[in-house]
Amino acid sequence: MRVKVKCLACGLAQNVAPAPPESACPGCGGAIPLAWTAAVGDDREVDACPVCEGRDFYVRKDLNRTLGLVTVIGVGLTSVGFLWARREGLAYGILGVFALVDLVAYALLKLVTVCYRCQAEFRGAYRRTASGFDLHRAESLELEYSRSRETGRGVRSAGSPPR
Ligand SMILES: [Zn+2]
Ligand SMILES: [Zn+2]
Repeated sequence: MRVKVKCLACGLAQNVAPAPPESACPGCGGAIPLAWTAAVGDDREVDACPVCEGRDFYVRKDLNRTLGLVTVIGVGLTSVGFLWARREGLAYGILGVFALVDLVAYALLKLVTVCYRCQAEFRGAYRRTASGFDLHRAESLELEYSRSRETGRGVRSAGSPPR
């Protein structure tokens, strides 16, 4: 399993493989303490986050958002250009092909598990057990996480809240 962890100090993300109890941030050099569970280490299941030790996750399609956005804008502008040049057939043709490619690509994308609290991302062959994104849950958990960081108690000592 590969885990993308974010530095709390500077926000830079990096990929780490299970094992090291700590990782240095390539951006600011700060230490990121990591607590791996056996299931995460063996790529069996994401049961607890090595960064914040939270146990609340959601799954989403592993889409490169920047690439997706650039493609959508590029295709949109090209079609508008053809429309403007009164080549409607070409414009709608491009949109049609793109819609098909988009559908196929989306169907082929794998699921990535994401930590609600610290946004760590988990990629690997493990069994996906989390459900889809829930905005209400995300908001309350993110709030709880930022509060626990401010007070310096951390989720570690606070423990996971009951579901
Ligand atoms: Zn950093
Ligand atoms: Zn986390």
